[in-house]
Amino acid sequence: MQNLKNPRVYRVAVVGGGISGLAATNRLLERAKGSQQAFDVQLFEADSRVGGTIHTVKDGDFLLEGGPDSFISEKPWAVALCKRLGLESRLIGTQESLRHSSIVHQGKLQPIPKGFYLMAPSEFMSFFRSPILSWSGKLRMAADLVIPKKNQTIKGIDESVASFVCRRLGKQTLDRLAQPLIGGIYTSDPKKLSLQATFPKFLEMEQQHRSLLIAMWKSRKKESSFLDTRPAGPRYGLFLSLDGGMELLVDALRKRIPSKSIHLDRQLVSLERNNISKQWMLQFQNGESFEADAVCLALPAYQSGNLLKNINPNLAKNLLKIEYTSTATVNLGYSVKDIPAPLNGFGFLVPEIENRPLLACSFSHLKFDSRAPKSGALLRIFLGGALQPAILDYDDRELINLVRIHLRELLEISREPRMSWVERHPNAMAQYRVGHLDLVKEIDAGLSKWPHLKLAGNGFQGVGIPDCIHRAEGCADEIFKQNLNSS
Ligand SMILES: Cc1cc2nc3c(=O)[nH]c(=O)nc-3n(C[C@H](O)[C@H](O)[C@H](O)COP(=O)(O)OP(=O)(O)OC[C@H]3O[C@@H](n4cnc5c(N)ncnc54)[C@H](O)[C@@H]3O)c2cc1C
Repeated sequence: MQNLKNPRVYRVAVVGGGISGLAATNRLLERAKGSQQAFDVQLFEADSRVGGTIHTVKDGDFLLEGGPDSFISEKPWAVALCKRLGLESRLIGTQESLRHSSIVHQGKLQPIPKGFYLMAPSEFMSFFRSPILSWSGKLRMAADLVIPKKNQTIKGIDESVASFVCRRLGKQTLDRLAQPLIGGIYTSDPKKLSLQATFPKFLEMEQQHRSLLIAMWKSRKKESSFLDTRPAGPRYGLFLSLDGGMELLVDALRKRIPSKSIHLDRQLVSLERNNISKQWMLQFQNGESFEADAVCLALPAYQSGNLLKNINPNLAKNLLKIEYTSTATVNLGYSVKDIPAPLNGFGFLVPEIENRPLLACSFSHLKFDSRAPKSGALLRIFLGGALQPAILDYDDRELINLVRIHLRELLEISREPRMSWVERHPNAMAQYRVGHLDLVKEIDAGLSKWPHLKLAGNGFQGVGIPDCIHRAEGCADEIFKQNLNSS
């Protein structure tokens, strides 16, 4: 419905059709529904499909995830969006009886000690019995009980995850546990990864309790401990997926957006601002153009940086400082009988010091229901990231062969897989380097000069799907409010 006082249609361009762009577009349409102002929201995507890194395919009765396979429920934004999209009944949790995983230790799979949370244990007996750390490693970890806290405020100087773990718990804990557990989430180098931007709770624990071990022990005893409220490590009760795979979320969003408003194969190559008409001028690779009152770039930060070089060089420079890594997933489908080693739990992680090219392997058919046919097994292997960038140079056949060599050693699998699928994600995973939060503050301050320009994507306030949705919906809400204020 058009407002008589302001009959002009307010045009918004959302660029990038990953979960961030889809969530921003959907939110704008939700807002527009109850509004007197006429909105025209258009989504532009470079690829010939929407979804970005979220990509599910079916191969017979195997359901394969090329990108994310789940999201955490304790950050509420993904669940809330699923509910609004009518997907609540399609949400599925991980299989309860198998909620644990292993770590490769000296060429063998060892269960991660019960209650171990990313870098520190909350259950000491199972930790002390585990062979993953040597006795000297365990003693060094126990020194955390007496090491004084570093004198810094939580909002103070940032520190790398590696420096923090070594300082408090020792190098063995970093190499054998924290690096693969944290690397598994961020595909990053813990020597460069910001603790403040990723796991600030550990800094808080040090400031409040001095010792992480004491803090973990106390939090276990408390009913509403941080273990029950924080994301991280494999806490499988928190992970949700959808019965038809993650792309069900993408499909539901796509169906909410009028098809004439989704423009595929539209790579934005130039963005300009006309200071007289106050319009944003978008130019696409195919020669088409579009004028908008407001723009939301839901892109990797370096893409936004390149597009904004002429408009705000300083903002662009800061965006280009956010680095990205490339990863690949290899899905291999087997018959259960072809896997001699007993598969127990949801998979395994591989520490860098094991010198293997794999980052992790999920036993997808055990993690979620309906991922493989009866008597089938689906293994999903992660490769690449900050510590193994060269692996992406391999072609698909080479990647599969490489993975199979290691699966033979670790799981005794010698048979050919029944099916395989390699998916690559070049420069798709943002790296939150030490100082990331200050950088994002500067970027957001730079943006304040451009109230009709918003930046969503995984480069800013979290790489997980819930965080991407949260940032994108926040951008949409601000665009909506600014239009109301200016009309
Ligand atoms: C292998 C892998 C596994 C992951 N697993 C999980 C998980 O289990 N749980 C979880 O919560 N998170 C996971 N993540 C992280 C999460 O999936 C991503 O951070 C999130 O999907 C990013 O969404 P996005 O929309 O911001 O970016 P993207 O998905 O990268 O989408 C950006 C879109 O912009 C388009 N684009 C780029 N340039 C242009 C241009 N110039 N013009 C127009 N369009 C353009 C791209 O084609 C793309 O479609 C995983 C990531 C990867 C890579």
